[in-house]
Amino acid sequence: MKTNLFIGAHPDDIEFGCGGTVAKLIDQGQKCVFIVATKGDQGSVKISREELAKIRKEEAIASAQYLGVKDIEFLELDDGLTAYSFQDKIKLIELIRKYKPYSVFTHSQFDHHPDHQIIHEMTVTSIKSAAGPWFKEAKGEPHYVSNILGYEVWNPINEYQTAVDITENIDKKIAALDLHKSQIEDYPYTDAIKGLAHYRGAMINGKGCAEVFEVLRLKTF
Ligand SMILES: [Zn+2]
Repeated sequence: MKTNLFIGAHPDDIEFGCGGTVAKLIDQGQKCVFIVATKGDQGSVKISREELAKIRKEEAIASAQYLGVKDIEFLELDDGLTAYSFQDKIKLIELIRKYKPYSVFTHSQFDHHPDHQIIHEMTVTSIKSAAGPWFKEAKGEPHYVSNILGYEVWNPINEYQTAVDITENIDKKIAALDLHKSQIEDYPYTDAIKGLAHYRGAMINGKGCAEVFEVLRLKTF
């Protein structure tokens, strides 16, 4: 069974960019693992950061479970990342060596959000570092990731090389996003996500819904 590792800066990013693909891969019998990098504790003006971090963790677990994801890891970095540390990178290398993913999905390099850019860079560099006998501070055996794909979130990307038809999975994607209640209360973004999925489907397949990905490394997909 192939393992797919998804990493997102904030607790709802993975569902936003790849929720349909996750549902589809799980239907096909593949394993999906989520890594949520930050606590997402800047995502509300009404709730304290501590309280919000707790709520968003619960929402992320509920949403992942709904999609059929059994493994979800939290790096618990502060929201509003300005950088990642050596120790943060070691943690991510350890998770790559632990789960041994065939494919890793991370933020696209063309995403303008600063936190997303940092997570993109942290993922790509950790994948390279996890592949060889170096970085012995990180537990586990070296592991080479065959595919690296970049997904879009708030800013639709102009350059992508592959797409996944999620026509059969769009309802599940939206229902998973609806479980991030603290986020959609203030800003009902599910309409935007539905719109983007239909736009991608129409432009690529002439119908239905799709998610697009930037290919950063591709062996087979
Ligand atoms: Zn985000």
